[in-house]
Amino acid sequence: MDITDLTACELIAQLEQRQLSSSEIVDAFLYRIKHLDSRLGAFLHVDEEQARRRAAEVDRRRQAGEKVGPLAGLPIAIKDNICTCDQKTTCASKILANFQPPFDATIVRRIREADGIIVGKTNLDEFGMGGSNELSAFGPVRNPWDPDRVPGGSSGGAAAALAAGMVPLSVGSDTGGSIRQPAALCGVTGLKPTYGRVSRFGLVAYASSLDQIGPLGRTAEDVALLLEVLAGHDPRDSTSVPGGVPPYRQLLNNRPEGIRLGLLVDQLGQGVDEEITQAISEAAKVFERLGMPVIEIGLPHHHLAVACYYIIATSEASSNLARYDGVHFGYRTDERAMEEELAQERRLWAEKGLAALPEEPDPPIVRLYRKSRAEGFGPEVKRRIMLGTYALSAGYYEAYYLQAAKVRRLIRADYDQAFSQVAALIGPVTPTPAFRLGEKIQDPLAMYLFDAFTVGANLAGICALALPCGQTRSGLPIGLQLQGPPFAEHVLLQLAYWFQKETDWHRRRPPLTALDRIAAGRGDTP
Ligand code: GLN
Repeated sequence: MDITDLTACELIAQLEQRQLSSSEIVDAFLYRIKHLDSRLGAFLHVDEEQARRRAAEVDRRRQAGEKVGPLAGLPIAIKDNICTCDQKTTCASKILANFQPPFDATIVRRIREADGIIVGKTNLDEFGMGGSNELSAFGPVRNPWDPDRVPGGSSGGAAAALAAGMVPLSVGSDTGGSIRQPAALCGVTGLKPTYGRVSRFGLVAYASSLDQIGPLGRTAEDVALLLEVLAGHDPRDSTSVPGGVPPYRQLLNNRPEGIRLGLLVDQLGQGVDEEITQAISEAAKVFERLGMPVIEIGLPHHHLAVACYYIIATSEASSNLARYDGVHFGYRTDERAMEEELAQERRLWAEKGLAALPEEPDPPIVRLYRKSRAEGFGPEVKRRIMLGTYALSAGYYEAYYLQAAKVRRLIRADYDQAFSQVAALIGPVTPTPAFRLGEKIQDPLAMYLFDAFTVGANLAGICALALPCGQTRSGLPIGLQLQGPPFAEHVLLQLAYWFQKETDWHRRRPPLTALDRIAAGRGDTP
């Protein structure tokens, strides 16, 4: 038996029956990380020693007959934009390269309280801004199914680590698809919960009205297990909803018979890879076989979603990222070099005036901000700060931000209308399977358009889940998206769970040849 092939729920069963110890489990996953990750790039930081120590502690407590939590002894990876008090939190940005948070995010605290073992922090597009994980300041993540392709983003490390068997569970964040896209491209299951379902306290903000933390696993059951720990009200996040958390895992047993589903036909066919269209249509048939009628349905304003999202997300980002000024947080430019440069410029200015410099030198504090930000942020983050600042500036606010806010209402109204007819929507996650590294990097618009099917759920604040539903002829995973009304996570999880009882796409693993190629990059074979 290969331990790293087991799902989180299977591992828990083995732990409870004393077939396996947490130390054995943690060692097996750490071994995979060690042998694959220098080439895959899924982790930015791994804390082996602490993971081993915590595993031994959980084993000791279990042996002593003490009560242990629902995640006891399971290794879990956390996206590196979620604060951990004992590991750096870089957001894959040079500006936070040395940032050590003084506190844990609420979800990190909850995982620790549930006796989960945080093995490391996963790579992402800088601040979550991207869809391919090529925009990390610390190097790209590769797709375990084909190392020449992207894993999707921005939680690329979280999904790739799962697909490559380096952890059984991981936590990501989703502002416009960042959990679902990489889950789809790497062949794993990932959930973006309803806005407010999971506390955002300690999640480094990208676009606060869209951001949501969520679980990734190999199966819907694993995702339900982790969601139960992550979800719930947090007095430290005023947007987290009060009230209890449903027993998601237990609810999976209820087969959602007779409920009606809507197939998003506008997201199939033109502009969408033929194999994806095919796989989604097949998936619809699986639900019909399970006793759920599927009707065709549309979201009339959906063609506006990408434009609307990129105004709102960048506007919020431009404001959220203002805090990185080289004073309060993170990277600061070399002040000595800056002083010298400034002195030099002042001399020039005094001698020759305007002719020497296009404008009078900045005061030192302004220069400190400007240089720290210019050196600390990557090009995509800068592009978004500029776009967002523009959309919010006087004279343009009404034309851009306000319009986008109105369109957002229309998109939400489309969903409300759809959910008055059906319990959930089914469609694709992405228009194509994983693309090649470098393919879209020079073309931001092409990269943005890749988000066409995922941003709607964030704009509307609803829940959405991605799960594997097929493979291309060349062997790349295809993802199915299920979208449900606010707080219908249990419905999406049930649908996914019963779909996974009928299909085996979630059991497929990246081909050994791909993993061998990955390991060979390091000259080491597991
Ligand atoms: N690709 C989208 C973006 O770049 C979504 C990213 C996310 O969900 N964090 O904004």
